[in-house]
Amino acid sequence: MTAAVRCDGIVQIYKTSELELVALRDVDLVVERGETVALLGPSGAGKSTLMWLMAGLLRPSAGRLRINGAEVSRLSPAALDRMRATDIGVVLQNPGRNLIPYASAAQNVAFAQRAARPDRRRVGELLDRVGLDGMRRRRAGEMSGGEQQRLAVAVALANSPRLLLADEPTSQLDDASGRAVIELIGQAAADGGTTVVVVTHDQSVSRALGRTVTIRDGRVGAEGRGGEDFVVIGREGAVQLPPEFHELLPPGSMARVEALPDGVALRRADS
Ligand code: ADP
Ligand code: MG
Repeated sequence: MTAAVRCDGIVQIYKTSELELVALRDVDLVVERGETVALLGPSGAGKSTLMWLMAGLLRPSAGRLRINGAEVSRLSPAALDRMRATDIGVVLQNPGRNLIPYASAAQNVAFAQRAARPDRRRVGELLDRVGLDGMRRRRAGEMSGGEQQRLAVAVALANSPRLLLADEPTSQLDDASGRAVIELIGQAAADGGTTVVVVTHDQSVSRALGRTVTIRDGRVGAEGRGGEDFVVIGREGAVQLPPEFHELLPPGSMARVEALPDGVALRRADS
């Protein structure tokens, strides 16, 4: 089966006038169809950059990115637009950026359905689910940050996307609204088979998703499945130690690598 997302050696470099900043270095990541993934990691690790790439809003500086089997760098701008309109729902980190400020809440959701026949019932249902039913006619630009965030989630789900990408979608919400948003996202995955990738710092969000992927310093550093945490062996055998081992083996220290029957042990050189 074709994976929903396949990243092979993705590198993303931001060039500004004075410097080049490597935001992602050699990201390998496969998200299977129907999976729900939480992207974790410290601020500046590259999570939003990875979201922008998966949303087709950025082209990778190097490496190969395939969404539902299509290589993003090879799509024409028109084909990429079509894919974004029909197959992908995105909630960007800054909620206002997802919305048309002068259009009403209902118009924003309806606009996201432009690739198919508009479904007014679904518009009402989505607004209801995110607790904005009473604000259908309110202009997006006049809403609070939390309201915009909830509206952005309704917009992202309006076209029943095959791939839903949400960057910290509950960061401005109280517990009850956050739960409603996560329930709605979970339901899209369960009923519609939507593949979900959510950047989050919120443990109640990541616990509701099937798998966690931790980005550290522009790389996939760790993964969690079924409540267990694993480090990921990167290209050329590179391993990022989890932060709780940094005291035992600080960066720059030397270690012996010893083969064991079922793996490898690292032993501090002076021990
Ligand atoms: P995260 O979402 O994990 O906090 P980002 O993907 O936003 O991380 O950022 C990764 C790195 O790239 C950071 O060092 C950030 O400052 C830098 N960065 C992000 N966007 C840009 C940009 N448009 N231009 C230059 N640097 C950027
Ligand atoms: Mg971010």
